[in-house]
Amino acid sequence: MPSTPTASGPGPGPEWKILVFAALMPLLTVLDFLTLSRFIPSAFVLRVVWGLVLAFFAFWLPRASEKRRVWFVLGNAAWNAVSYLLLVFLTGALESPYVYLVFTLPLVVAFAFPEERNVTTVCGVICFVGTGWQVWVTETSFSQGSAWLSLIALSTFLGEYGSSRFRKELEVRNEVRVERTRREAAEKFARAVRHQTQSEKLATVGRLAANVMHEINNPLAFVRSNLHFLQKELLALPLPSEVRGEFEEVLTETRTGLDRIQQIVADLRGFSRMDVEEPSPCLLADVVDNAVRLAGVRLKHVAHVKVEVPRELPSVFAVSRRLVQVLLNLLVNAGDAIEESGREGGTILVRGEVQDAHVVLTVEDDGPGFPPEVLPRLFETFFTTKGPEKGTGLGLVISRELLAEFGATLSAENRAEGGARLRIVFP
Ligand code: ADP
Repeated sequence: MPSTPTASGPGPGPEWKILVFAALMPLLTVLDFLTLSRFIPSAFVLRVVWGLVLAFFAFWLPRASEKRRVWFVLGNAAWNAVSYLLLVFLTGALESPYVYLVFTLPLVVAFAFPEERNVTTVCGVICFVGTGWQVWVTETSFSQGSAWLSLIALSTFLGEYGSSRFRKELEVRNEVRVERTRREAAEKFARAVRHQTQSEKLATVGRLAANVMHEINNPLAFVRSNLHFLQKELLALPLPSEVRGEFEEVLTETRTGLDRIQQIVADLRGFSRMDVEEPSPCLLADVVDNAVRLAGVRLKHVAHVKVEVPRELPSVFAVSRRLVQVLLNLLVNAGDAIEESGREGGTILVRGEVQDAHVVLTVEDDGPGFPPEVLPRLFETFFTTKGPEKGTGLGLVISRELLAEFGATLSAENRAEGGARLRIVFP
């Protein structure tokens, strides 16, 4: 039986299988010798014609339109059933050794082409009519004839039922696949939109920063210098100690506020990339030392910083000042997290190593780590959990941007043992 045109996948196409079957058809005459011990010329002619028609199917199948293909497949099934019945007739009708296969023919077709609609029924009907006709012309007994016809009807029913179940299963699988593809496409689209929004936000902030920075820096400088002057003058006055204490407290608070404003301006300057510097080879051990020293003031009472960055580590190509800025940001974030958790004496570990031919720098802490709802939003512009007085939500975004300039990446994860881990991978 030739294959149907819908058979797909690796290996030769269905038309080749039909061609091979067509070529073998005349050679199958040898079966007549084996089963009947004689040559039957009409059966030989039938096999040649059968093979030629199959060759015609094989030729047209790949060229047929989708609609015609359905008819070709049905025609192919019908032709094979008719040819087989004729062969049975020419080799002894109901006495032919080939007759026993007629009952199973619909099942064989259903098994071979389960994905094709109506093929089993077409084959079953032809077998039923053809066998009925042979029962009638050979005057076979009624009980014998009806037994054979019932067998054909049963095998057709079973074949059609089985193949329809198979097709339903196939449809369900296809629907699941289509649904999955649709969902993946929707997610991809949503990611692209999010990414675009993020990029637009960054660009806007960059432009804004460039203007605002300039406006803020000048007044900031004279406020700072005036404050310094006031502090000097006020504290030189002979004031009662409690008033002096209050003055000192107010002045310190004001200075802290100014430091904060300056920090934000510095962040924004980095963001708008006004001060572009050329990268050069940097020794990570030095960069880390610098950053840890600078962060020391903030982390002194919060966490102990452990550094494991060997000096032998290959140098990385970057702007050292930028790297210090990034690292400082990560260290301060770690300190904030440990402090917010209310725990005393946390540990921050800065580790440098070579992994898979990349220099990797990790900053990890034993704080509370990232809550699940925070983790996916860490690198969103303005995302902060620290409240408007303390956080800007720019630290990680800017750090990632700065690192991207040297081809380095920044990622965040939770440690299995608790706490956060930030990973910088250098190219
Ligand atoms: P900001 O520090 O101004 O909030 P960042 O972009 O630096 O902005 O950080 C964004 C958020 O990421 C923080 O508000 C905090 O919730 C979270 N985060 C950053 N580092 C850590 C850390 N080490 N542990 C826990 N949460 C962190």
